[in-house]
Amino acid sequence: MAEIIDGNAIAKSLHEELRSELLAMGSADLRKPCVAFVRVGENPASVSYVSKKQKVSAEIGIESRLHVLPESVSQPELNSLIDSLNADDNVDAILVQAPLPPHLSERDTFNRVRPDKDVDGFSAANLGLLCQEDASAFVACTPAGILEIIKRSGVETRGKNAVVIGRSIIVGKPLGLLLMRKGVDATVSICHSRTENLREICARADILIAAVGRPMTVSADMVKEGACVIDVGINRVPCAEKKSGYRLVGDVDFDGVVSKCSKITPVPGGVGPMTVAMLMKNTVAAYKRHVLK
Ligand code: NAD
Repeated sequence: MAEIIDGNAIAKSLHEELRSELLAMGSADLRKPCVAFVRVGENPASVSYVSKKQKVSAEIGIESRLHVLPESVSQPELNSLIDSLNADDNVDAILVQAPLPPHLSERDTFNRVRPDKDVDGFSAANLGLLCQEDASAFVACTPAGILEIIKRSGVETRGKNAVVIGRSIIVGKPLGLLLMRKGVDATVSICHSRTENLREICARADILIAAVGRPMTVSADMVKEGACVIDVGINRVPCAEKKSGYRLVGDVDFDGVVSKCSKITPVPGGVGPMTVAMLMKNTVAAYKRHVLK
């Protein structure tokens, strides 16, 4: 039976480390770190993610501000809010919660955020720095959280086959770059919706990461004996027993895979909390750049 990786526990220890770091830095003439959240519309998942991020910010000692814009907001109006947050010396970090409504450009929006406040790491500037293996890059929080899980769980990456299913800017692409960079040294394959022989490629993985957004994408026959399986997917499936009417599942057939792999992340309680923890880590790093310069 695999070890079930406790993402909540790893995230909690990271929160504690950050809280202690801020306490140690604290002095009467130093302002607190501040992150600004921008949410467009009332997408229930976005409402829940931003509220969770605000709660954790408060626990760590990070001030947060929430800007909620109507679903109908125009790109120039959204840009103008981002410009004002970019110019505000009391704001260290800006996070525009994705997904945005289809009439808005996520790419233009992410690129509008000043690189030194882009704690989501989705701007061309930070993605470019990641590609150059520049230590000053803000790395996207989910990929950074996955790497932290892998490291803190003692999983060997050097020379190992890592297979990532999914090629998005939010997860797959930056994760591929992180896993192949020097010091991590995995041999990386990125699979996607047009990949042929997905099962065979996955079955060679020492580390298999699923970021697809479709339940049961990874079945036991796709998993190598003893592999480490990281399930990034968050899917809502109808469930009459739940008050909400749904339950969360990942992309992996957890029950089928758990007896075959060596380690596995659950959904919920795996990658999700680590994404929030890495956002906090990036925000503290942005703050230190601003106040200690
Ligand atoms: P996306 O829709 O942008 O990308 C999905 C990827 O899956 C695409 O690259 C596509 O090519 C690939 N794909 C689709 N069908 C496939 C198939 N049959 N075989 C192989 N590949 C296939 O999604 P995303 O933003 O990268 O998110 C992926 C999942 O991860 C979603 O469930 C999302 O909710 C979740 N997610 C979780 C966190 C977290 O913190 N846990 C963060 C971000 C995203």
